[in-house]
Amino acid sequence: MKINSAEFVISNSDVAKCPNTPLPEYAFIGRSNVGKSSLINMLMERKNLAKTSGKPGKTQLINHFLINKNWHLVDLPGYGYARVSKKDKKTFQKYITDYFLKREQLVMGFVLVDCRHEPQPIDLEFMQWLGEQQLPFGIIFTKADKLKPNALKRNIAHYQEVLLQTWESMPPYFITSSSKGYGREQLLDYIDAVNSDLGH
Ligand code: GDP
Repeated sequence: MKINSAEFVISNSDVAKCPNTPLPEYAFIGRSNVGKSSLINMLMERKNLAKTSGKPGKTQLINHFLINKNWHLVDLPGYGYARVSKKDKKTFQKYITDYFLKREQLVMGFVLVDCRHEPQPIDLEFMQWLGEQQLPFGIIFTKADKLKPNALKRNIAHYQEVLLQTWESMPPYFITSSSKGYGREQLLDYIDAVNSDLGH
């Protein structure tokens, strides 16, 4: 997919205020510092479309971007647990769960994970939660340039092994590096193919 246009549309924390259009949308989520802003900027070939961690005023909201006037890319910064009860029951922030549960235009969520790290409980729990809600998702491994090819292979295989302890099959996954541009074509072509299937 060639990116002809990428425009910021709106930022808010209320799913009801998200753009009222039928365009298909893809949400990007992950722990803070996973490389999400860098990935979005790399995909869109823009330096500052998504705000990177180092920048002050980084928003913690639902950010909509209109791509090629045809689909929405949604940046959902830095998820974490919110405490809901004295018993310390863990749940994800409400604006995030509301967004996933209520946003009808959402086609798929992409969960970003840093390829260097052991599978993190919060990421696995979030995928588990998506699965329980029957919400389609894919995994994007980030910062692939930081590992040598063998270590990268080993880590991805290990991640698969861990996932296959609870899942029957691997969700679609992509190996990316924002600094090298790895995975850009595959990810954009995947989105393009899904959009075509949906008639967009
Ligand atoms: P966010 O908090 O998930 O939006 O993460 P950022 O995009 O701000 O990235 C966090 C840090 O990781 C920054 O210092 C980035 O320069 C660095 N980073 C992000 N992606 C890559 C990558 O693909 N390769 C390398 N080497 N560094 C990256």
